[in-house]
This record gives sequence, structure tokens and C-alpha cells, in this order.
Amino acid sequence: MNLLLFTPEERRPDGTVAVGDRRLQHLREVHGKKPGERVRAGELGGLMGDAEIVSLSENEALLRPSLHTSPPGKLPLILVVALPRPKMLRRVLRSAAEQGVAEIRLLHSYRVEKSYWQTPVLKEATIREYLLQGLQQSRDTILPRVSCERRFKPFVEDTLPGLTRGRRALLAHPGDHPPCPRGIAAPTVLVIGPEGGFIPYEVEKLQQAGCETVSLGPRILRVETAVTALVARLF
Ligand code: SAH
Repeated sequence: MNLLLFTPEERRPDGTVAVGDRRLQHLREVHGKKPGERVRAGELGGLMGDAEIVSLSENEALLRPSLHTSPPGKLPLILVVALPRPKMLRRVLRSAAEQGVAEIRLLHSYRVEKSYWQTPVLKEATIREYLLQGLQQSRDTILPRVSCERRFKPFVEDTLPGLTRGRRALLAHPGDHPPCPRGIAAPTVLVIGPEGGFIPYEVEKLQQAGCETVSLGPRILRVETAVTALVARLF
């Protein structure tokens, strides 16, 4: 945790913030902080800076934040990713938030197991928790937007055209396709397949919707690795 995040609702009328959960544990056990010392802090949706530790007990740390810096800009990227299994989903959410992805759309596709849509990881509070871990790692205060697209065809036919307007649309697909462009840093929609890959019909539909098929080469990367490698290469 490189940034202690708190919400505006956690502010007391005098501006101080009391934390008593994992953040407290982290302050005590990992950072070994003492009262009077400072810790890097940020307000969710707002500014970053640091906070003075006013007091610290087993149950609570009282912090007095002084915030002055804007969070880093988000990448102009909408990540459309076929819903992976829960363990992979956690990692994808965390690392997408960490890398500064602005928006994530979780998509159903033929090789996404239906049961994945039942996972507790998809509960709003759980998604938020993983995103927060990413933000606290990379020092950011703005949560990426996350939404679920449970029907492939309506998404590709009706929603995707709106998303790709004014953006470059890329479909990451392993194999003999043009190499994924480097450092484009332009507004982009990036589509990433499920662990079993997109079926040919889906590839065709995505291409018809205007996606350019690009590859990182012949090696099949895990979804989590593919996300990180593709985002790093594009931005
Ligand atoms: N079993 C599938 C691969 C799935 S990998 C197959 O053989 O096609 C999961 C997703 O990660 C892919 O759908 C793709 O979006 C992305 N990915 C993995 N390796 C990649 C590569 N070398 N180039 C581009 N995308 C890749």
C-alpha cells in the first residue's frame, strides 16, 4: 500500500479521518508508523498528499490529511475483457486499476463458463475492494468504471459501435496477425478474450464491428499477463 485511501464520508467534521481496518494493520505492521509521523494519503475521488498520524492504538489510527496533488491522469482506454474465472478476475481488476485503465467492461462470450457470472467477486463491494488495492498500489484516487455485458451479440452490435466512435478499436488475438502497435497513447478500446479464446464467430463479429486484430506473437499469454503486456505496449 503506497497510498492510504479514505472516502469523503470517513472525514470527521474537523477534517481528521479515523481508520480501523486493514489500513490500520498496514500502518502498524508493514510501515511500523508512530504517532507524529506522516503517511502518504489520498481521498477517494479527490486529491492526494500526506497525513499526519495524530494517534495510533490497536483499534484505530487518527489521521490529519493535508492534500494538494491531483492523481495521475487515466489512460484513455476502455478495456473489454471476456469474464475470466474469479481468481484471474481479481488479478485483472487489480492490475487494470493499478495501470490506470479508465473503464472496464466484463463481457460474456462462448468460452466463458456461465458459473463465472455467479462469483461473489462480481459483487459491487468486492470489485471495489480489488480496484482500491490497485489504486493504493500505484497511487491514484479515481476508481475505474466497471460494468458487466452479459450478452455478447447485443454488446458487439449495439454497444460497441458507440464505444469505438472516435477511438481506435483493437482485438488482441494470439497468432499470425499484425503486431500490436506500440506507444499509440490515443483513445482506444481493447478487447481481450476469455481463457479459452474467442471462437471464430466472435472474432468475425468483433472485426465486423471495426476491431483491428492484433497480436503479441505466437505465445499464448494468460489473460492477466496479456492485459498488462498489451496496456504497457499501447501506452
Ligand atoms: N486458448 C486461446 C488463448 C486465450 S488467451 C487461443 O489459443 O487462442 C486469452 C486472451 O489473452 C486471448 O483471447 C487474447 O485476447 C489475449 N492474448 C493471449 N496471448 C496473446 C498474444 N500472444 N497476442 C495477443 N493477445 C493475446
